[in-house]
Amino acid sequence: MRVVVDQDLCGTTGQCVLTLPGTFRQREPDGVAEVCVATVPQALHAAVRLAASQCPVAAIRVIESDAGDHERASADPAPSPAEPERHAANDQRNPGGHDGTV
Ligand code: SF4
Repeated sequence: MRVVVDQDLCGTTGQCVLTLPGTFRQREPDGVAEVCVATVPQALHAAVRLAASQCPVAAIRVIESDAGDHERASADPAPSPAEPERHAANDQRNPGGHDGTV
């Protein structure tokens, strides 16, 4: 399991840090929460889910499976930087549309 904090949403209440000080911390000087572990130990899974459910602004997201994330990431890669150029080249070869008429 992994856990992330949406730092744009965090309301700096510190509730997650009080609940799990080894997993969350508040950064200086603004108090926005940060996650201080790469993966959540099994023994803390329930506590992290609880902390996420108690965040008043729903800024904590629990990612249940590291393996699932990797699979999703590889199945849905970011678009290649060359992708717009490829489309532009196709448009020039076929200016009238999909059937080739102008
Ligand atoms: S409980 Fe939510 S709002 Fe409060 S510090 Fe943690 S992430 Fe931020």
